[in-house]
Amino acid sequence: MVEVTLIGAGPSGLLLAHYLLQQYPAYQVRIYERRRDPRQVEFSKARTFPLTLSARGMHALQQVDGLAEAVRAIAQEMRGSVMHSQKGKPKARTRTQPLFTLDRTRLAIALLDELTRRYSPPRLQVEFECECQTVDFASQTLTLQPAAAPQKTVSYEVLIGADGVNSQIRQQMSLQEDFECETQIATNAYKSLVVALENVPEWVDLRPGYLHSWQLATGGVVLMLDQGDGTMAGVVHFPREQRQVRDLGSAREVLQFFQTYCPELGAVMGEADAEAFVQRPVSEVVSVRCNRYHQGNRVLLIGDAAHAVSPSLGQGCNAALEDVVVFGELLAEAQGEIREAIAQFTVRRQADAEALLELSNYAFPHQKRLLIEFFARQAIAKWLHPFWGGGFPPPMFQLLSDPMTPYSEILERYRGWIDRVKRVQVSGG
Ligand SMILES: Cc1cc2nc3c(=O)[nH]c(=O)nc-3n(C[C@H](O)[C@H](O)[C@H](O)COP(=O)(O)OP(=O)(O)OC[C@H]3O[C@@H](n4cnc5c(N)ncnc54)[C@H](O)[C@@H]3O)c2cc1C
Repeated sequence: MVEVTLIGAGPSGLLLAHYLLQQYPAYQVRIYERRRDPRQVEFSKARTFPLTLSARGMHALQQVDGLAEAVRAIAQEMRGSVMHSQKGKPKARTRTQPLFTLDRTRLAIALLDELTRRYSPPRLQVEFECECQTVDFASQTLTLQPAAAPQKTVSYEVLIGADGVNSQIRQQMSLQEDFECETQIATNAYKSLVVALENVPEWVDLRPGYLHSWQLATGGVVLMLDQGDGTMAGVVHFPREQRQVRDLGSAREVLQFFQTYCPELGAVMGEADAEAFVQRPVSEVVSVRCNRYHQGNRVLLIGDAAHAVSPSLGQGCNAALEDVVVFGELLAEAQGEIREAIAQFTVRRQADAEALLELSNYAFPHQKRLLIEFFARQAIAKWLHPFWGGGFPPPMFQLLSDPMTPYSEILERYRGWIDRVKRVQVSGG
C-alpha cells in the first residue's frame, strides 16, 4: 500500500488524486484542503473567476475515464473571439479548435464530485477546512490546523503540494538548503466583473460562445465570457500602479467608466453589477519560478505551487493539469514507483514550465502598437503557415492548445517575437 498525502483540492490536486486512484489499486490518497467543501458553500461568482481550457487541458482530463465529459457538460464552448473598440465595429475571429470556459470553482466541484462518487475510505479521504501549516521533512510529519479542532500532527509517506501560488509546502521547502524560488508580482493587477445580460440593446454584440475583449486606452484589457446562465463574467486587467480602475469608488463611477471605455458592457450593466464591482478586491497576479519541484524523493510540488504564471495566455490551469500527464508518464516508466517518479519530475517538466513563464510574461504585449502587430502576425501566420511552414510557425494560440507541442518548442519558434517585445519594454517604447 502506498499512502499519498495531497495538500490542496484545486484542479491539479484533484486530477492527480483521480489519476493515482484509477491507475494504481495499491494507492491510498488523503487530501487536506484549507477552504470549506465548495459543494456546501453557496456558489458565489464574487469568489471565483472564469478560466478557459484548451485541448491541452482537456487532453489531461482525458487521462481519467469520463472526466473530460463531466467537465464539458458544465462548460461553455468558445468558438472564437470578438475585439471591441471604443469607436468602430467589433472584429470577430473564429477559432479552428474550440476552447471550453467555466469558472475555477465549478471545475473543482466537478472533479471533486466525480472523485467522491468513485472512491471512499480507506482509498480516499478528504478533509476540508484543514490547513497545512508546517512540514518537518526529516521526521516526515506535517502540522494541520482544522477550523474547529486543535492543531494536529500527522505523518506522511509521500507528500504532494498542490496548494496553489502561495503554497505552504513550497514555503517550507524554501527553508531547506539548495532550494531557490523567485516569486514575482506581475505588472498587471485584476478585478473580477460579472454582468447580468438583461435588456441587451440590439446594437450590442455580446454573442455567446466568443471571448469578448476591450483594450483600455490606459494599457489594460477587459476580458468577458458568456457563462450560459444569463450572465457574462470576466476580469479587468490593468497596470498595477494605475489608479483609474482601483479608484472607482461608486456604482455611478463604474457605470461611467464602462460606458466610456467598453460601451457594450456599459449599455447592459446594471446598478447592482456596478456596486458589486466596487466591492470586489483588486488581486495581484504572482508568478513562481523554482529551481526544483521536489524535496528528496518523498515531496513534490505540482500546478501553481510549482510554476504559477500570469493569466495573459490562459495557460496556468492547462499547465497545472498537464503536470499530471507528465507525472503519470514518469510513474508508468517507473512501474508505479512513486518515489522514482518524484525524483525525475523536475528534470522532465522544468524546461516547459520555464518556457511557459517566459511566454506568459512577454508573448501578449500590453503596448497597443505591439498588440496590433501581434494580432497582425497571428493572422499572417494562420494564412501562410499551411503553404510555407518553415518560414511561418502556426499561430501561437494554436500551438498553445496543442497537447503534443511542448511549451519549450513554442518558445523556440517564437523566440524572435519574445525578444522583440522584451527589447521594446526595456527601452520603454
Ligand atoms: C484571473 C485569473 C484568470 C485565469 N484564467 C485562466 C485561464 O483562462 N486558463 C488557465 O488555464 N488558467 C487560468 N488561470 C490560472 C488558474 O486559475 C490556475 O493555474 C489553476 O487554478 C491552478 O490550479 P492548482 O490546482 O495548481 O492551484 P489552485 O487552483 O490555486 O488550488 C490550490 C488549492 O490549495 C488550497 N490550499 C492552499 N494552501 C493550502 C494549505 N496551506 N493547506 C491546505 N490547502 C491549501 C487552496 O484553497 C486551493 O483550493 C487564471 C488565474 C487567474 C487568477
